[in-house]
Amino acid sequence: MLPKGDKISIQMNYSFRIPADGSDRMGRLYTKKGVVYTIAQWYPRMCVYDDVEGWNTLPYMGLGEFYCDYGNYDYYITAPSEMIVYGSGDLQNPTEVLTNEQIKRLSAAAATDQKVTIVDAGEIGKPSTRPTKQPMLTWHFTMKNTRDVAWAASKGLVWDAARVNLPSGKHAMPMSAYPPESIGDTAWSRATEYLKNSMEIYSKNFYEYPWGTAVNIGSNITGMEYPGMIFNDWKETNAPLWFVITHEIGHNWYPMIVGSNERKYMWQDEGFNSYINYYANDIFNHGEYANDPALFNKNHFAWLDQSTLPDLRDPLITVSEAMDYAQHYQYYSKTAFGLKLLRDVVVGKDRFDYAFRKYTEAWAFKHPTPYDFFHCINSAAGEDLNWFWKQWFFTVWTLDQAVTEVKYVDNDPAKGAYITIENKNKMIMPVILKIVQSNGQSEIIRLPVEIWQRGAVWTLKYSSTTKINEVVLDPNHVLPDVNRRNNVWNMGK
Ligand SMILES: [Zn+2]
Repeated sequence: MLPKGDKISIQMNYSFRIPADGSDRMGRLYTKKGVVYTIAQWYPRMCVYDDVEGWNTLPYMGLGEFYCDYGNYDYYITAPSEMIVYGSGDLQNPTEVLTNEQIKRLSAAAATDQKVTIVDAGEIGKPSTRPTKQPMLTWHFTMKNTRDVAWAASKGLVWDAARVNLPSGKHAMPMSAYPPESIGDTAWSRATEYLKNSMEIYSKNFYEYPWGTAVNIGSNITGMEYPGMIFNDWKETNAPLWFVITHEIGHNWYPMIVGSNERKYMWQDEGFNSYINYYANDIFNHGEYANDPALFNKNHFAWLDQSTLPDLRDPLITVSEAMDYAQHYQYYSKTAFGLKLLRDVVVGKDRFDYAFRKYTEAWAFKHPTPYDFFHCINSAAGEDLNWFWKQWFFTVWTLDQAVTEVKYVDNDPAKGAYITIENKNKMIMPVILKIVQSNGQSEIIRLPVEIWQRGAVWTLKYSSTTKINEVVLDPNHVLPDVNRRNNVWNMGK
């Protein structure tokens, strides 16, 4: 091919045997009303050629997922006419594959925030739900500027839909299709509500959802993401169902819109997605699931659990296939926790939210490397955070701040105090210090990370007026300090 816009056509015959258990990426679920086929990684595709690596030929090894280039998809699925096919993107020929009643219900769904049922449990399998008696039907879908398309097909699913309201005033359509066994007020009857709200939260806070539809299929997949298409466990209920839906659709932002290399840098998709899921958990339905104990294990900010920190063996930058499998969850948790730390403690909410949004906008439909992310946040936040990136992503260093001594100027508390703090381990962080005087006065002092530039001991002059009763480092436990026993100094000490 010649540079600057030359084109090439490639035609290829290929066949594909649908696995019953496709490594939790696709599969076949047998239900009372029929088989649910979820289909992905189903056609030959080119490796990405980028301006950093050249050809990206790293093979699929299981844990690290995909690295895909963007393009416009125009595809046809021919299936037995008793089935309904759900595809990534926009259906181009509804009048050929749906009944007039179904088309009418879909346009009703496009006009309401409430779920509209397109196929209900009683209608499943009835000839009246299909527009033809011919044995086969061909479904035509298109999707623009996307890195992949996936699809599902079944004759046995309930199907509902609603409307997503996007910040620009545009709309998109969230849909769920699931076996009738999954119906229930604590189960999949709320799936479209979860999907719609997640899409609205992420669109408002990070980047507007760029496609027309998003489909959520109840299947034998624990949880898997494709552009405009997610496959989730049909047996999931309550808070975990909310979480798996908000997580898998969250991947439509990272890495489907912001197309990082999942195969090499799993933290850039799982970690960033876990970070945005935290906000969705908090916001959804006035915090319905924000403090749900069932979410605790899936709330990746729980990573603060200090017992896990000293045991980390591999830094986040480790390529997925080389990561200690037992610890791969740190791609989710340590990353999300690190971003929250930057937002809450290091950079501050306003500048960090601005910078993270800038990263998302600047790299939408492109291929950011980890360094593009670091540079983009440094630039947009207006602060050199390389000390943070280095220790958080390239090392397994831990933090241990300690308060070691309190002395008074001329032994007189009225003249002021010298408070000595130490950084015992290799990781550095800003310092948050609570100082309580014997007159009852209490104050929080914040020291920037730069105090550690010249060494691991820092003495602060504090304008005390009476004796100091207590000094507490990180009183609200926002830092990942692995040893809190040395965080408190008492007068009696
Ligand atoms: Zn994920």
